[in-house]
Amino acid sequence: MVYQSFLIKYAEIGIKGKNRYIFEDALVNQIKIAMKKCEGKFHVSRSYGRIFVDAEEDYDFDEAVNALQHVFGIVGICPMKVDPIVPYEELAKTAVEFFGEEYPDRNTTFKVHTRRLDKSYPMNSQEINNELGGALLDAYPELKVDVHDPKITVNIEIREQIYMYTHVIPGPGGLPVGSAGKAMLLLSGGIDSPVSGWMMAKRGLKLDAVYYNAPPYTSERALQKVIDLAGLVSEYTGPIYLHNINFTEIQLYIYDKCPHDELTIIMRRYMMKIAEMIAKRTACGALITGESLGQVASQTMRSLECTNRVCELPVFRPLIGFDKEEIVTISKKIDTYDTSIRPYEDCCTIFVAKHPVTKPVLKVIERHEHNLDAGIEEMVQRAIETDEILVVDANGSRVFKNREDPLQPWD
Ligand code: ATP
Ligand code: MG
Repeated sequence: MVYQSFLIKYAEIGIKGKNRYIFEDALVNQIKIAMKKCEGKFHVSRSYGRIFVDAEEDYDFDEAVNALQHVFGIVGICPMKVDPIVPYEELAKTAVEFFGEEYPDRNTTFKVHTRRLDKSYPMNSQEINNELGGALLDAYPELKVDVHDPKITVNIEIREQIYMYTHVIPGPGGLPVGSAGKAMLLLSGGIDSPVSGWMMAKRGLKLDAVYYNAPPYTSERALQKVIDLAGLVSEYTGPIYLHNINFTEIQLYIYDKCPHDELTIIMRRYMMKIAEMIAKRTACGALITGESLGQVASQTMRSLECTNRVCELPVFRPLIGFDKEEIVTISKKIDTYDTSIRPYEDCCTIFVAKHPVTKPVLKVIERHEHNLDAGIEEMVQRAIETDEILVVDANGSRVFKNREDPLQPWD
């Protein structure tokens, strides 16, 4: 079966009143971007609360569906047969054939659901439902009608053309990327942070990312792993600006000056501080981390209080109530798991204390941070000035040199 068109179903954005058009525009835009990656030419349009993706030449069905399954905001993808307006007898003949091709096993239940937007069509929706239901039963006697809970719904839409579809392929749900603004993801090489970025992108955020690198204690391969993870997430979000921050000097300084059981907390506070400074310069409205309550010492309630205190922007922690198993399940679904478990060292694992505090006291942490007063400001400035920005997409990464670039992330 060659489908000439896809009907795109979207749920949540349908209910947002006046904002609905903004969301629909964002969705159409994201679909256009996604379809550009596919072979063949597609026309994306909006009409009467529906979005259509029409194939204008030959295309690869699986590739097109896969592209659409990476667009947040889409709930269902319906491959459609499209025909010119014809009298009912011909419509019925086509629909019976179409059904036969779609469902070789007809020992099932069905109903016909018609929408007639072209009111000049000589039969109304109910008449078509009844007549076509009868025609399908005549052609395929194994079928049974079930109007309340059918296994198959034969959808007929009569517009400027006649559209038919029976399959609804699930989309990823959520809201179109960018419709909720942009946020800065703290992206490590672990399992959690790519999942948390994906989850917030699903709620409509565009992502930038920051990675704290500690050469020579961490290797090129650790950086590559983070780039690869950003590349995988970018299949849903579009290109990600990844800020590669050299954190070595700051980490060594903290290691030198502060109690070792507080290292992780203090490091984390500087990570958040720097992330926020970059976020503000790049028009990001929030930070995102992969923290989950109680997962490690730096993620107890008291530890989170200490890290939170350095930020003014909201910090989104979508995994806060998730078990590791649940996070792993998502990471497998979005294909980041195999990359996340590559065994390269992370800056935090190298400088980690044997017995980190689990109930840090904010005042004590702040007092110990004063040991850093002589040099830390300058080091933070240096880390930001030497920020290497990489533009990462599914095809790889390139260093972003020209800050005058129209896509430039610096506001
Ligand atoms: P992940 O699996 O995402 O690495 P984790 O379980 O290893 O998380 P931590 O190492 O405690 O947890 O890190 C908590 C969060 O802090 C991470 O999810 C990430 O958002 C951020 N983070 C940690 N290390 C880095 C890093 N090197 N660069 C950027 N962000 C980091
Ligand atoms: Mg980690």
